[in-house]
Amino acid sequence: MTANMDPGPGAGGSASPAPRRLSILGATGSIGLNTLDLVSSEPGRFEIEALTAGRNARELAELAVRFSARIAVVADPAAYAELRDRLAGTGIEVAAGSEAVAGAAARPTDIVVSAIVGFAGLAPSLAALGSTRILALANKETLVSAGPLFLGAATRAGTRILPVDSEHNAIFQVFEAENADTISEVIITASGGPFLRTPKSELAAVTREMALRHPKWSMGPKITIDSATLMNKGLELIEAYRLYPVSVDQLSILVHPQSVVHGLVRYKDGSLLAELGVPDMRTPIGYCLAWPERRPTTVKPLDLSAVGTLTFEAPDRDRFPCLPLAEAAMRRGDGAPCVLNAANEVAVEAFLADRIAFLDIARVVEATLGKIDGEGGLMEPDSLAEATELDGRARKIALACL
Ligand code: NAD
Ligand code: MG
Repeated sequence: MTANMDPGPGAGGSASPAPRRLSILGATGSIGLNTLDLVSSEPGRFEIEALTAGRNARELAELAVRFSARIAVVADPAAYAELRDRLAGTGIEVAAGSEAVAGAAARPTDIVVSAIVGFAGLAPSLAALGSTRILALANKETLVSAGPLFLGAATRAGTRILPVDSEHNAIFQVFEAENADTISEVIITASGGPFLRTPKSELAAVTREMALRHPKWSMGPKITIDSATLMNKGLELIEAYRLYPVSVDQLSILVHPQSVVHGLVRYKDGSLLAELGVPDMRTPIGYCLAWPERRPTTVKPLDLSAVGTLTFEAPDRDRFPCLPLAEAAMRRGDGAPCVLNAANEVAVEAFLADRIAFLDIARVVEATLGKIDGEGGLMEPDSLAEATELDGRARKIALACL
């Protein structure tokens, strides 16, 4: 796993003036649009191969024209006709369906940004391996649901995985792989979300609108709810466990409401290395797009004197039960993280549809894990088919729990 994370030769070549060929899976989302913002800030540096979206044909068509993509693919077949009509006469190829998304991901490129939300990102991320030199992975659900399978396939395919998630990107920047045995702790920070100071008694009545109001980061709806329950931090712990050669006990979380320090690595010599920056995803995305170089971005520089005070505290596992559920799934291993993720996706969707209450999200996840564990069903998925089956099974049970 770590071999894949070691910065090293083989993925260089960026000194060449040739533009980098780039595909973006989930181009219409928060990460996708931030990526395209960076692309437009460096004219001539990138050529867009494929842009994909879930179902927004109008926005996808606009982006495909503006960025001269070779192909635009929408996952929802019902959106095909609109996409085709909007792109008629442009010369841009058009396709629809989840297999077509995976097909687009597999077109030869230098970089693929994997920014589909949820388990739906796994198959296209796997499909990209081997056809791209670098896969910049924002889709954390891929690593949570099928980390060993995915990272093994990436190593075999010779595709370098770079983490986009701000905490993991921070750690990537300060993790000295050659000194891994002198690392004693890997720390990811958490803003604490909108309910950092909300008393436990008030969490039951929290609404969708309140949960969608994140204090620091502007993101898609699913990860914003995950940030409010702290499930996001749980998923990120598992993500870090997959990416870095550390034990479960060497991973920790610090709540840091200013969201300036994103990740830290502690060395046995007493040094604690951290990456700092304003909370703007264009910094970690830009890092991945430029890697192994560093290139300027339009992100405003961090003014520490204006921030003034940085504070850190331990997370409250009692008020945010999704976090201990994720930690237990990480310790349990095998298929537990996959089931945790699937149940959470179902529960978050139900919360966003006003079908369940905020605190029910953790209840649905816990009940689903308990049921599948009781049936001896928490086996590690060894293939995409096995992961899809386990994810589907967990979804069915979670839906029944609603
Ligand atoms: P988003 O909801 O804004 O965008 C998701 C994208 O995926 C959209 O383009 C959407 O059309 C597409 N999509 C949705 N369902 C799909 C499906 N079934 N098949 C194909 N495409 C589909 O989400 P986001 O906030 O950009 O997050 C994307 C991923 O990046 C998530 O895994 C998230 O956890 C991760 N991430 C996001 C941020 C952030 O700041 N937004 C930070 C760290 C990690
Ligand atoms: Mg993050």
